[in-house]
Amino acid sequence: MTAHRHSPGSHHGPATDPGPFRVLVRELPCHRTVRVDGAFVAGLLAGLPMRDALGLAADDPEAGAAELDVDLYADNAHVFVAGTLRGHEVVACSRCVGPARLTLDETISATFMSPGELAAARAADEAAAAAAGAGTTRDGAAADDEDAGLELAAEDLDVFAYDGESVDLEPIVREQLVLAVPYAPLCKEDCRGLCPQCGIDRNVETCTCQPPGDPRFAALGALKLQS
Ligand SMILES: [Zn+2]
Ligand SMILES: [Zn+2]
Repeated sequence: MTAHRHSPGSHHGPATDPGPFRVLVRELPCHRTVRVDGAFVAGLLAGLPMRDALGLAADDPEAGAAELDVDLYADNAHVFVAGTLRGHEVVACSRCVGPARLTLDETISATFMSPGELAAARAADEAAAAAAGAGTTRDGAAADDEDAGLELAAEDLDVFAYDGESVDLEPIVREQLVLAVPYAPLCKEDCRGLCPQCGIDRNVETCTCQPPGDPRFAALGALKLQS
């Protein structure tokens, strides 16, 4: 199934298909499985240098695939989402610029709260960060204890806003797929990369280029020979 792209604030007409990511609060508790295909993954990663370097189509069906498998339940003010996101995605190897397949096996733990509560939690985070920056130690901050719950909510969990009627699971998938891309992806641990001089892929070809060497070391070597 092709995942339905759904941006916040797009059409909410009664006849509009809410898409596979949207879950109604009145249907909770429930279990939801959402599959995303290559075109969805490609669209999501488009714009990341480590994806664009592959030079593939914006709807590349081989860009990846994933399955979100979660339980959802609610209390009076929140919706909790817990489960897994499994699959794979393909980005460029940071050494050879060939495809690097990344395995996704992520634990999902997210909380949806009202926009007001989310803003308050984020403000508490910023205040705590500012206090920490001013040299306040966690042990000595007894006065902060009453805010500890809010801090935890925003710092340690994935938190999202919802309108009280439905939650949108797409931002969870979006965030996990982007966060799973490492700073320097590798196609394999021992990728030999491209030759910095002639540019061949040293995993598949061999060249006779010599490393240019560092002129400072060359001078050092000459000194040693003289002594
Ligand atoms: Zn590589
Ligand atoms: Zn070379």
